[in-house]
Amino acid sequence: MQNATIVDKKNQNVFSGQGESGPRRAGISTASVHAGEARQKAYDAITDAICCSSTYTFESTDSILEYIREKQDREEYGRYGNPNEKVVERKLAALDGAEDAIVYSSGMAAIVGLLMTKLNSGDEIVFFDQCYHRSREFCAKHLSRFGVVTHQVTTSDFDAMDAAINERTKMIVSESPTNPHLTAIDLEQFVALGKERGVETLIDATLATPFNVRPLEYGVDYVWHSATKYLAGHNDLLAGVICGSREKLEPVRKLRGILGCINSPHNMYLLERGLKTFALRMERHNQNGQQIAEFLSNHPRVERVFYPGLKSHPSHEIAKRTMKGFGGLITFLVRDADWKETAAVIDACRIPKIGPSLGGVESLIEQPLVMSYFDYPPEVRESFGIYDNMIRMSCGIEDPEDLIADLEQALSQ
Ligand SMILES: *Cc1c(COP(=O)(O)O)cnc(C)c1O
Repeated sequence: MQNATIVDKKNQNVFSGQGESGPRRAGISTASVHAGEARQKAYDAITDAICCSSTYTFESTDSILEYIREKQDREEYGRYGNPNEKVVERKLAALDGAEDAIVYSSGMAAIVGLLMTKLNSGDEIVFFDQCYHRSREFCAKHLSRFGVVTHQVTTSDFDAMDAAINERTKMIVSESPTNPHLTAIDLEQFVALGKERGVETLIDATLATPFNVRPLEYGVDYVWHSATKYLAGHNDLLAGVICGSREKLEPVRKLRGILGCINSPHNMYLLERGLKTFALRMERHNQNGQQIAEFLSNHPRVERVFYPGLKSHPSHEIAKRTMKGFGGLITFLVRDADWKETAAVIDACRIPKIGPSLGGVESLIEQPLVMSYFDYPPEVRESFGIYDNMIRMSCGIEDPEDLIADLEQALSQ
C-alpha cells in the first residue's frame, strides 16, 4: 500500500504510485525524496532552481500557435502555474497514488476551488459534523448565497448520511481522522455509500497524510490536504492540495487559473524541500504520538485521551485496519479542571509552544475552548464536543522522553 511505481523516462523520475506495471516499486521515503523531479536539472544542480517569472516568452508567433494547437506542456503565465509548483504537484500525486494533484495557496483555497468547480445552484452537499469548521462555514454561509444547500450529520452515522442524500446531492464530505476528536472514518463504508447513491466522495486527510492512509486506494474521488501541516512540516508556509483523477481535476485546474489562488515559486521551493523528509518526520510523529498518548492515558491527572492508536478510542478498530500509524495529534481532558486550571497546565509547558496549527517539527499545544471557540455560547461548544478542560497537543519530532518529562512537570504544577 505504501509503494509507488518508478517509471524513469524523459529525464523524469515519475513515481505514479499506481498500477503494477513499473519496472520496480519504490517506498514512500524514496518517493518523498525523488518523485516528481527531473533527474538532471538546470545548471546540473541537485536541487530545483527557484524559477521567478510572472510570464513566459515565446520564440515567435509560430511557436505560440504550436503551443495552442498541440496543447504543449509548457508555461504561459504565472497564474496558471509555475515550474516549482509542478514539481510539488507531481510529488504529492505520487505520494497519494493519484493521477493528478492541484496545489493551492492554502488548504482552504483548495477546498473552495474544488467546491466552486463541482457545485451548482440547487445542488446539495452533506458533511460529517466533525469536519474542519471553516469548510462547513464556506458552504453554509457562502455557497448558500449561490443556491447550494448544506447538510450536516453526526460523524460516522452512515444511516443519517444516507438519509440526508437525495437526488440533488452531489458530494459527501468527511475528515479522517477528525480534529480534535481523532475519529477515524470507515473509508470502505464511506465509498460504498457514495457509489450506491451516485454521489462523489471527498476526504480531508490532513491529519492522516499519505504516510498513514491513502484514501484514493479505497475509491474516494478526492483527497484534500492542508499542506501547511505535515506535508510542509516546518510551520513556515501555507499551501493546500486536492488529489484525484486527471479527468475529474481538469475543470478544477481551469478554475484555479481564474481564481488565482496560486503559490509563489519561493513557497513551492520550501514545500518541495519540506517534503524530502516527509516520511522520516511521519515515522517520528507517529512514534511520539503513540508514546505520549500512552503516557497521558496512564496519568492520574488525565481524565480521557483521544488518540486513535489507543484501544480506548471508539474508532481504534477502524484506525487499526485503515492506518499505518496514528499521527502526532493528541487531545486530552484534564481531570476535575475548570478552564483556568486547564490553561495553567498549558502555560506550565516549556517545550511545546502555545499556538494553533499542527504537523510541524515543533510541538504545539492549545486549549480549543480559548483558541477556536471562545466566542461560542457554552451549550454550542458542548454540542461540538469542545470541553473547558480539553487540551490539544501536536507532537513535533522532539525526543519523546523530553516531551513526556515536560508534560509530567506541567501536569504536577
Ligand atoms: C489547517 C487545516 C485545514 C485548512 O488548511 P489551511 O492551510 O489552514 O487553509 C483544513 N483541514 C484540516 C484538518 C486542517 O488541519
